[in-house]
Amino acid sequence: MSIVTRFAPSPTGDLHLGHILAAKVARDLAKSVPGGRFLLRHEDIDTPRVKPESYLRIEEDLEWLGLTWDGDPLRQSDRREAYDEALGTLRELGLAYPCFCTRKDIHAALSAPHGHGEMIYPGTCRSLDPTEAAHRIADGVAHSWRLDSAKAATLHGAIYFTDLRCGTTQVDPAMNGDVVLARKDIGTAYHLAVVVDDAFQEITHVTRGEDLLGATHVQRQLQSILGFHEPVYLHHALVRDEHGRRLAKRDAARSIRILREQGCSPEEVSTKASAT
Ligand code: GLU
Repeated sequence: MSIVTRFAPSPTGDLHLGHILAAKVARDLAKSVPGGRFLLRHEDIDTPRVKPESYLRIEEDLEWLGLTWDGDPLRQSDRREAYDEALGTLRELGLAYPCFCTRKDIHAALSAPHGHGEMIYPGTCRSLDPTEAAHRIADGVAHSWRLDSAKAATLHGAIYFTDLRCGTTQVDPAMNGDVVLARKDIGTAYHLAVVVDDAFQEITHVTRGEDLLGATHVQRQLQSILGFHEPVYLHHALVRDEHGRRLAKRDAARSIRILREQGCSPEEVSTKASAT
């Protein structure tokens, strides 16, 4: 069996050591078999945060490190029709509903914080009368589209994912709650775009940091409903700073550009990009 992996950075700033580890894991897995392919995907749907110069800077950093990809990079901003089509399918199945809540509404409706550090949507608009919702949409009220995760679960039944590090896990549809499938401002959203593109690019192995393990639960739900193949997963440990925190774009000291400017060789940077 051949292996196809992808590295999927967002062009919202320069790459740091955490990204390089993710790229290396993906490249090494693909190249562990003859004919394996390592693809590059620019996840640029979040247009307000995209920096136009980042595409080239990302590609230059990867090339400098010898992390060259196969074929042309994919840009999610070119794929809007495919995401709309997938959303259409979910709407036809009655698994997507419009949500008119603001961030403030959601905060106010949440009585207690929960453990994930992220907000789980309390489901306010799930039970909205469809006629009322249609009126609001016709009136031009801003809305997102959310997945009815519990209803989706009744459709797909028990599903699982296999991770090369963690083994097999049963999908928990409640873990992420009713995620946004299409944001108010940009008309699409992360989970749906990733799932549609992993299918389109025929990714056999989704490799990414362990901080995205939770996302796999909802992404498997979407794959199952949309009839996409099931990739194998590899959620790798993260590069952390001296306080044990995962790196973020703001950690300029670990930016590849800065390390290059400080005279680090590609080999030195590559060695620094390892999980701690
Ligand atoms: N674009 C995401 C990131 O920059 C990666 C998404 C994924 O690998 O599924 O963290």
